[in-house]
Amino acid sequence: MGMSDILHRDFKAEPWWWEWWRPSNALSSDPPAKVDVVVVGAGYGGLSTALELARGGAGVAVLERGDFGIGASTRNGGMVSGGINLGKGLSGKNRDSGEWQRQKETLLHDGAESMTAIEDIVAREGIQAHYVRNGRFLGAFTPTHYRDLEAKVDDFNTHAGVGATMLPKERQREAIASDYYHGGMLVERAGHIHPACYYGGLLDAAHRAGATLCANTEALAYERVSGGFVVKTNKGDIAAREVVIATNGYTGGVTPWLRRRVVPVASHIIATEELPDGMGEELIPNSRAIADTKRVLTYYRLSPDRKRLIFGGRARFTQAPPEVSAPVLYRYMTDRFPQLKGFRLTHAWTGNVAFAFDWLPHMGRSPDGLRYLLACNGNGVAMMTYLGRETARNILGGTNTPANAFDGGDFPTRSLYNGDPEWALPFVGAWYRFRDWWDRRAT
Ligand SMILES: Cc1cc2nc3c(=O)[nH]c(=O)nc-3n(C[C@H](O)[C@H](O)[C@H](O)COP(=O)(O)OP(=O)(O)OC[C@H]3O[C@@H](n4cnc5c(N)ncnc54)[C@H](O)[C@@H]3O)c2cc1C
Repeated sequence: MGMSDILHRDFKAEPWWWEWWRPSNALSSDPPAKVDVVVVGAGYGGLSTALELARGGAGVAVLERGDFGIGASTRNGGMVSGGINLGKGLSGKNRDSGEWQRQKETLLHDGAESMTAIEDIVAREGIQAHYVRNGRFLGAFTPTHYRDLEAKVDDFNTHAGVGATMLPKERQREAIASDYYHGGMLVERAGHIHPACYYGGLLDAAHRAGATLCANTEALAYERVSGGFVVKTNKGDIAAREVVIATNGYTGGVTPWLRRRVVPVASHIIATEELPDGMGEELIPNSRAIADTKRVLTYYRLSPDRKRLIFGGRARFTQAPPEVSAPVLYRYMTDRFPQLKGFRLTHAWTGNVAFAFDWLPHMGRSPDGLRYLLACNGNGVAMMTYLGRETARNILGGTNTPANAFDGGDFPTRSLYNGDPEWALPFVGAWYRFRDWWDRRAT
């Protein structure tokens, strides 16, 4: 299918969310010469750190190399959950010992806390971001995946309290007007938010609380000095007691130790034109969020007004222009909803997430003394908000006790990995697509 068949005449290669809140430097100030804490990166993670620090009385400056909101935090699907999104981080090699079982329980518990954290902040700060807690349907790509999900229900409910139940294929249409999956898991404790309105609300909240927000200010280097650090920026040097790195999928060469521990991967989204009245609700009753168990996963939901479908996935693992990503996503979307054939796309866009080699989010302190919160593994709306708040609490409390299951501990890398996966990702993408094809064929 050619681009001219699927693109609306008003098509824009930017997030549909930006029609509501667009990256801006309106609240920007010049960086101070001296401050208690410098936070690098003004996504959810950096802003949430700054908000909590400012509320606790610390002086904080947030540096953002672009306009505020230029990173993943205004580009994502806005799907919110806690615990169930730890995915591969909860299974895998060497993870069947009793010790690991206990660790898994705290990961699930603290993962669930991330959802409490975002809900608390949205309510406390009065952020108008169309947040709804309507649940999620996780579609099983194969019957084996269905059984794998079934095996997780008890753990999810006992340790993360998510209210998960299985929905067999015969009843799947209660959750989604599609026969694409082999049943799936319904999760009550999950929801979705308007990601850019949430971002704008968090930015305002940090500003109100007294954080200094510095747009178009790039951290270029840092030096350790007695009593802390000097951060060099394109707008001058800043002396600070603590430095927090919150750059996730945009982590660069300024922090080589951290860069070697995160793999930036692109994710892509399309938005349909307005659908006929009632069609959105027919496609996804109750406006739940949908995700699936494919390796090349997709995730989708209705827009807050329930008029459009917002459909995301790994159309490519690297940054790709809409000419490449939109037709691939359109095909994925109409595989699931043949009813949407013929409807056009008004927006297509992309952004970066960051994966860790153990598939878990991380916060802590690097050997050179920098604090960090990184590696959302594709799910950071709640998680990076939570890790930011927790990092701030660690700084305010001056404690070295791990704040949660993601704090401290091993943050693995791989020999020869220098932080630039560009050459490898297309191969990983092709391998994942092959494995999906094989799994489905084998059932
Ligand atoms: C297409 C897409 C869909 C997604 N869907 C979902 C979803 O549905 N649910 C979910 O939970 N998560 C989702 N995510 C993930 C989520 O968006 C991220 O986990 C989250 O936004 C990360 O927030 P952050 O603050 O860590 O990083 P970001 O928001 O990416 O911010 C990092 C910032 O650091 C800045 N920066 C980098 N280097 C420097 C420097 N040297 N100096 C100054 N600034 C610097 C960057 O410019 C950037 O703005 C999605 C992501 C994408 C891209």
